[in-house]
Amino acid sequence: MSNRTGKIISITGNMIAVKFTGDIIQNEVGYVIDGKRRLKSEVIKIRYDVAFMQVFEYTKGIKVGDTVEFSGQMLSVWLGPGLLAQIYDGLQNPLPQLAEEFGFFLPVGEERDAFSLKVKWDFTPLAKKGDKVTAGSFLGWVPEGIFEHKIMVPFNVRGDWTVEDIAKKGKYAPDRVIAKIQSDKGKTIDVNMYFEWPVKIPITAYRQKLPPKEPLVTKIRILDTLFPIAKGGTYCIPGPFGAGKTVLQQITSRHAETDIVIIAACGERAGEVVETLREFPHIEDPRTGKPLMERTIIICNTSSMPVAARESSVYTGTTIAEYYRQMGLNVLLLADSTSRWAQAMREISGRLEEIPGEEAYPAYLESRIANFYERAGLVELHSGDQASLTIGGTVSPAGGNFEEPVTQGTLKVVGAFHGLSRDRANARRFPSVSPLESWSKYRSFIEKGLVDTAKEILFKGDEVSQMMKVVGEEGVSLGDFVIYLKADFLDAVYLQQNGFDPVDAATTADRQKYLFTKIVDILKKGFPFRDKEEARDYFYNLRHSFIDWNYKEWRSKEFKKQEDKIDVLLKR
Ligand code: ADP
Ligand code: MG
Repeated sequence: MSNRTGKIISITGNMIAVKFTGDIIQNEVGYVIDGKRRLKSEVIKIRYDVAFMQVFEYTKGIKVGDTVEFSGQMLSVWLGPGLLAQIYDGLQNPLPQLAEEFGFFLPVGEERDAFSLKVKWDFTPLAKKGDKVTAGSFLGWVPEGIFEHKIMVPFNVRGDWTVEDIAKKGKYAPDRVIAKIQSDKGKTIDVNMYFEWPVKIPITAYRQKLPPKEPLVTKIRILDTLFPIAKGGTYCIPGPFGAGKTVLQQITSRHAETDIVIIAACGERAGEVVETLREFPHIEDPRTGKPLMERTIIICNTSSMPVAARESSVYTGTTIAEYYRQMGLNVLLLADSTSRWAQAMREISGRLEEIPGEEAYPAYLESRIANFYERAGLVELHSGDQASLTIGGTVSPAGGNFEEPVTQGTLKVVGAFHGLSRDRANARRFPSVSPLESWSKYRSFIEKGLVDTAKEILFKGDEVSQMMKVVGEEGVSLGDFVIYLKADFLDAVYLQQNGFDPVDAATTADRQKYLFTKIVDILKKGFPFRDKEEARDYFYNLRHSFIDWNYKEWRSKEFKKQEDKIDVLLKR
């Protein structure tokens, strides 16, 4: 397969047409040879003897007639110890040092190893000579951060194999052979501590996919209680620019009960990515007290990076996430924003002069979105253990109009919808998830009856509020006014949450159950108010006592004291 070459016959932006001889495969990587530079590119489409390729780098300087060398491999990432805490671009080049040097762009034609092949890892074998193994079987482990990073049989190995030889406990570099395995047919392969995997091919070295059932606790009340996420499930966060998508994902990455968080930041603006790079390394993991980065991997792209690199970043992130799932871990992949990814697809499709679909997105937009979310899942590994990959993607439709192809294509496939509302963001009601528009197909850890009662009050309260905009407060009955106050109370003390307060930012499942039950009792209560004035004063006091309560450490002395105060108010 190697040494196949072609010649560039045309160039349109990052897209080149290359006349070739021999066999070329879809998504194969090739290199444009331009003097000393080797520019990485990928085959997007093949027509007869012409390959249409997108170049991952700036194409300035390349010309018709330049040679392209085909690698025989699809765009791949390295999988092995040393991924955690890294910040990569869409092609898995480590960013931070380069960012310091070059200002957030890799110099053209530079490629860097995804992790060091010199660092030695403390290997402990888990398999022994004679053991039967298949793709994904654990051969050993090395400590990586707080995890046992499993060294696995590469995922492209087919059928049943036997361990012929395995390294003893000791310190080895990733490229050192740690095992020899033999197939039933007598073929032998050497296994390293790392291998490559093509990003567009899902990793499926497990026994079966199971329907998601267990809630993934984010400690964000409005999500867990009203619109829950499931381990192995999918969800999306559409919202207009500035509505709070990125902040919501950051809060989620900090507090969600998951082992590993992978952030695919397909940046809106370059500045945003810079912020992510600056802030993230300083965030403390509330669970371990250590830097959150130790169980995080960030894949970063800005809109100023080449279109092909932007398109691939989502796949790079997903592949790494699937790799950690294979180790038996629960992984959360957050993609922000999938609209930027879709736009990259649109640009590429435009350059290929494909027949455009709605809003000039390619006709295959929906299937690409579906294939991406499909890679989430709760799986049963060959060992019988369960592991999960949960995917949450933001969508940033222009003007916050949810009737556009990316939002609509996403809605068809995800299990939960957290629609952000511009009005709520403007009123600084954060998280700005709309309690009226959002939904989830997953089960909450809170009893359904309680949730239904709360939702009913929210809808009715909204109706009254709309009515009052027309007829004023005097125009509605005392009963309706109380419903409005109850809905507003629920919103203020429960749905809204201060993501920047160490206590209020994270409400455990226990605490949510306790608090929500108490609140629903209040929602159900009939209050013998004399007039609207009295009702308003009452809920005003109650609201402030509850908000103060949210800032008290769960089950602390102060927590108890505040609850006593609230109980006195409630007895009235
Ligand atoms: P988006 O990603 O939707 O464009 P951001 O997440 O960047 O929006 O949020 C925009 C601004 O809104 C933030 O800089 C912050 O000031 C405010 N904001 C968003 N979410 C919250 C929150 N949960 N709590 C407080 N402020 C928030
Ligand atoms: Mg954002």
